[in-house]
Amino acid sequence: MSSSDLPTQRVRTRFAPSPTGFLHIGGARTALYAWAFARHHDGDFILRIEDTDLERSTPAAVRAILDGMAWLDLTHDEGPFYQTQRMDRYREVIAQMLQDGSAYRCYCTREELDAMRAAQEASGASPRYDGRWRPEPGKTLPPVPVDVPPVIRFRNPIGGSVVWNDLVKGPIEVSNDELDDLIIARSDGTPTYNFCVVVDDWEMQITHVIRGDDHVNNTPRQINILKALGAQLPEYGHVPMIHGPDGQKLSKRHGAVSVMQYDEDGYLPEAVINYLARLGWSHGDDEVFSREQLVQWFDCAHISRSPARFDFAKLTWLNNLYLKAMPDDRIAALVAPRLAARGTALGAPEAVAMDLSAICGLVKDRAGTLNEIADLAMMFYAPPHPSAEQLAEVIKPEARPALRAFADACERIDWTREAIATAVKQVITEHQMKMPQFAIPARLLVFGRTQTPALDAVLALMPRELVIHRLAQGLAHAL
Ligand code: GLU
Repeated sequence: MSSSDLPTQRVRTRFAPSPTGFLHIGGARTALYAWAFARHHDGDFILRIEDTDLERSTPAAVRAILDGMAWLDLTHDEGPFYQTQRMDRYREVIAQMLQDGSAYRCYCTREELDAMRAAQEASGASPRYDGRWRPEPGKTLPPVPVDVPPVIRFRNPIGGSVVWNDLVKGPIEVSNDELDDLIIARSDGTPTYNFCVVVDDWEMQITHVIRGDDHVNNTPRQINILKALGAQLPEYGHVPMIHGPDGQKLSKRHGAVSVMQYDEDGYLPEAVINYLARLGWSHGDDEVFSREQLVQWFDCAHISRSPARFDFAKLTWLNNLYLKAMPDDRIAALVAPRLAARGTALGAPEAVAMDLSAICGLVKDRAGTLNEIADLAMMFYAPPHPSAEQLAEVIKPEARPALRAFADACERIDWTREAIATAVKQVITEHQMKMPQFAIPARLLVFGRTQTPALDAVLALMPRELVIHRLAQGLAHAL
């Protein structure tokens, strides 16, 4: 076990989304890993909104992130902190760095920088800032132009390299020669992205930075600034991206949509959490585990080093398992608004007479999502409208007397699944029919479709009067 598996101080992780869009599935997984790591170590999980890009950040996106986190029940202990509210603090740190010499003003104009790059490219060198305003002992700096507002650059160390033992990727070493003097404040005084992240990770005392590996190139720069500030370095773990099933970057087509879209589509947060946890992390061969087990087992050592592949079928399979395990009344509460959205007046007497929990319990086995349960449940709530062709095709003349006899029997029997099954058997025996010859027409008349779960089971969940009414109405139409 490496030392990073046994933190010696209180663990503090953070999720630091930029509110430029909804919380998508990749961001949610990053948040989940940082959250699970903190919970595993009885530490703190901090939420920080990185909203310094004023053009791309929107309040709607902040809301969407908070909603997504709440839906997944990834609770934070501190925050949300907003970087736009911390500008004074960033400026203070910049002033302090200017004073201690770890940062300096650079008065290069855009034209000068362009010329610098062109000359470097022409000589085959890779483009980088040439350090012309970087103070060095014994060096004379150019005269300060009066009309150029300066940017502030970090005085990156020269020579040597930055090394860290990534919690996911293992040892990483980047030569300082590859890092030029990063701009930490623009000419209008606003601090830049990497700088705000550093100040926040430092002051929020983050011990473990767990984030997407699209940030791995920022890490050596951030480490150098942290060192210049005399900060204790956090550990870093960079989680590989999620790809689509075809190995391409995850796109909308693949499911890179808002986590709230999964809610809308009828996935349960428990299933999404389980799926995301397993997508790029493993605990042996375990596929199905609870949030508590995830917290108990989570570690960075078992985060996969290669990109994960998103698999909708697997998510739906898991969702079905969670639906099957969920109490029917809880499912009913989640399905009710979906029925309303499908045009069901749940307060109407026929609807009130039905037991939605029992209906959900009956149909959930074959459903991948809450929406599929709602679609199946609609056969109870929506009046059937079989077409004339369907009626002509399915309601054969020989079936009519049997359906009529069954409608009569419905008046007399106890309205239980067993009594209904007995009545159906009696009718088909008397009319010398096979079960499907009776059950398919009966389904069409009562439910408007030819496939349903077992006929006695679905009929028993429908109010008796409605069954009799629909049989009579359907037979009249079928004539
Ligand atoms: N704000 C960054 C993003 O949304 C994350 C920065 C970080 O985790 O260090 O990609």
